[in-house]
Amino acid sequence: MRYISTRGQAPVLEFDEVLLAGLARDGGLYLPETWPQFDAAEIRALRGLSYAELATRIIAPFVGDRIDEAALAAIVAESYRDFGHDAVAPLQQLDANLWVMELFHGPTLAFKDFAMQFLGRAFDHVLGRRGERVTIVGATSGDTGPAAIEACRDREAIDIFFLYPHGRVSEVQRRQMTTVESANVHAIAVEGTFDDCQDLVKAMFNDTPFRDELRLSAANSINWARVMAQIVYYFHAAVSLGAPDRPVSFAVPTGNFGNVYAGYAARAMGLPIDQFIVGSNVNDILPRFFDSGSLTMAGVTPTISPSMDIQVSSNFERFLFELYGRDGAITAQAVTEFRDAGALSVGDNLWQKARETFVGHRMDDTKTKAVIGEVHASSGYLLDPHSAIAVAAARAKANDASVPVVALATAHPAKFPDAVHDASGVTPSLPPALADLCERPERMAVLPNDLARMEAYVRDHVSLSGAA
Ligand SMILES: *Cc1c(COP(=O)(O)O)cnc(C)c1O
Repeated sequence: MRYISTRGQAPVLEFDEVLLAGLARDGGLYLPETWPQFDAAEIRALRGLSYAELATRIIAPFVGDRIDEAALAAIVAESYRDFGHDAVAPLQQLDANLWVMELFHGPTLAFKDFAMQFLGRAFDHVLGRRGERVTIVGATSGDTGPAAIEACRDREAIDIFFLYPHGRVSEVQRRQMTTVESANVHAIAVEGTFDDCQDLVKAMFNDTPFRDELRLSAANSINWARVMAQIVYYFHAAVSLGAPDRPVSFAVPTGNFGNVYAGYAARAMGLPIDQFIVGSNVNDILPRFFDSGSLTMAGVTPTISPSMDIQVSSNFERFLFELYGRDGAITAQAVTEFRDAGALSVGDNLWQKARETFVGHRMDDTKTKAVIGEVHASSGYLLDPHSAIAVAAARAKANDASVPVVALATAHPAKFPDAVHDASGVTPSLPPALADLCERPERMAVLPNDLARMEAYVRDHVSLSGAA
């Protein structure tokens, strides 16, 4: 399988190269040159497979011959072995035709584990074969850091440093980063804001001698392998509900558009999906796009679903590329226009095309809490704020009562205990594997917002001993 950039100017790469590169050299995002196809018989043959077996079938054509089949099967099996539920991504029935897919049984209780667990192991495998190492450096406002650290702990070819704003992430999120005992994991509390953390990371990447010396790498959400690993659970859910003989719809709480784009990819591969319902909080750039055909920037408002407090959805470029008929030049132009003018209109034809499969739905925090309270009162089921948005969006916008809708539950309610308690009167408890999180010893460095100090710290603590 070969990969092309959404902006058409970067070298065509193979899977392992795309995995390590992340962003394309022309600033674009990598996508497979063609979508692997699964016909009805092949989809039917997925029935009854375990999550890991199904994942290996879906991922194999994307990887091609760059990771051999036995190694891939082992990476996949290991990635999902320690999930807290045997079904990995279980479905819970909520209404006659509404299911919740629980994507929060991974080690950090959010759906990002599905991609990160695979990414960390795939990195390690590819680097090990090449005899190379990397230093992953990232900034987190709370969610990505724990998932990345948990995925990279004890990986032989990786050191990982995550910066977070001192005193400004929740206790659970902080402890998920600071209680990991592995020698290759470094949690750094920066005396500053999340923006300061991001600026420090950018500055380290822009310091070319430092970047080369330490072989810096990122694990951010535009990496193709993250989207790819997320395609699997769309197949898994659809097959459980009767695919390919019956269509399914999905409601997805959306921020960077990575999760719902993985669903779009599943559809492009032959899975019969009727509708994608894109849920958002008041930061509603995407619902406004599907309502109007125009993407217009606005400020970010903090909400009780913070993982969706996003102004520009980085993975949306992949969707634009498809909408523009996979024309890299037009996509590059559109992205520039959006960045410069803060607005982009795709025109009536393409808007109608987008609306054939996508519909948006937004709600504010009051409505989100009402949904959490009401679902808990009527069924005893506790939703986190992100998942509640998916459930409410599914109920509001599903267009065909005969088609089952799967709402994606992207975080465990115990990740957002205050909002959930406010809404339902119940304090959700952490699952057994994390129950003693608050008793575990913490280990972190507290550093000032200072590039030289940060670089010195990374250099002193990396295990590749600075040799270029
Ligand atoms: C990251 C995240 C989202 C948003 O997913 P995207 O792929 O960015 O659209 C939604 N819910 C939770 C809990 C998340 O962590």
